[in-house]
Amino acid sequence: MSKIQWTNETWNPIVGCSKISEGCVNCYAESLAKAPRLQKFEQYQKVSDWDGTVEFVESQLYKPLSWKTPKKIFVCSMGDLFHEDVNFEWIDKIMAIMCHCKHHTFQVLTKRPDRAVFYFNDHLPNIGLRWFALGENVAVTFKSQTPLPNIWIGVSVENQARANERIPLLYQIPAKVKFLSCEPLLEPLELLSSIPVEIDELIDNEQQIYLNDFVDWVIVGGESGSKARPCYYDWILRVVQDCKALTIPVFVKQLGSNFIHSNEAFKHKTKFKHSKKGNIEEFPNSLKVRQFPQF
Ligand code: SF4
Repeated sequence: MSKIQWTNETWNPIVGCSKISEGCVNCYAESLAKAPRLQKFEQYQKVSDWDGTVEFVESQLYKPLSWKTPKKIFVCSMGDLFHEDVNFEWIDKIMAIMCHCKHHTFQVLTKRPDRAVFYFNDHLPNIGLRWFALGENVAVTFKSQTPLPNIWIGVSVENQARANERIPLLYQIPAKVKFLSCEPLLEPLELLSSIPVEIDELIDNEQQIYLNDFVDWVIVGGESGSKARPCYYDWILRVVQDCKALTIPVFVKQLGSNFIHSNEAFKHKTKFKHSKKGNIEEFPNSLKVRQFPQF
């Protein structure tokens, strides 16, 4: 059972990563990997420098097969599935498990959508239609260009620059459900106006593409931890309002450990029990929104 509010379980057949953008500065996975609780495991000892060393953990690969009841599963919460040093053969095996476990929903979140675009559009079609995850009698027939309904792909959008860079890449990934994770939210975002202009270049007739034409879900939240950077009430509210205007389901995960509300009365009235301010009961009413994609 995961404490992350938008999922049921985490699954880590890959661990380890390196920092790539502003959202990584206080990486929670790095801190967790260095904690004594995880340092008991060899895979976390090997990656604890967080210098880009990544480990494929074969013993974790088949875990979803043992979960009989349907779950939402966050894939690689202790790394990034599309990190540049994650071998495509490992990703193929992970994909095979996800294809096989149709009763689960797999949530893949990346800060490296450029590599995901290449994987789905260039690598997978060249594998052919049939491939296997060996070792536990898992055989998968996969039409590689068909988006699978049980695999959701998301990109991290912590500021406007990353929105402008990553949203056009997300557009190019053939996933049935595509989402944005605006966490940790580091500045005001203008999702209504961040219709990726670069997308125009991809479309023959220069038809305008709007965010709600291909984004099915948005997660938003402030940063957690003792070094958390500020997250303002107005920034989260803006994302919620933009999603409402675009009719995109939105999920306010947490206000963050350094949440700042412009309303003094709210500040003094509220004593948060949860350090990350992730208890929806304690949110301002306007931010009490936890929706999931419709499909
Ligand atoms: S991509 Fe994710 S796991 Fe990797 S360093 Fe950044 S925040 Fe941490």
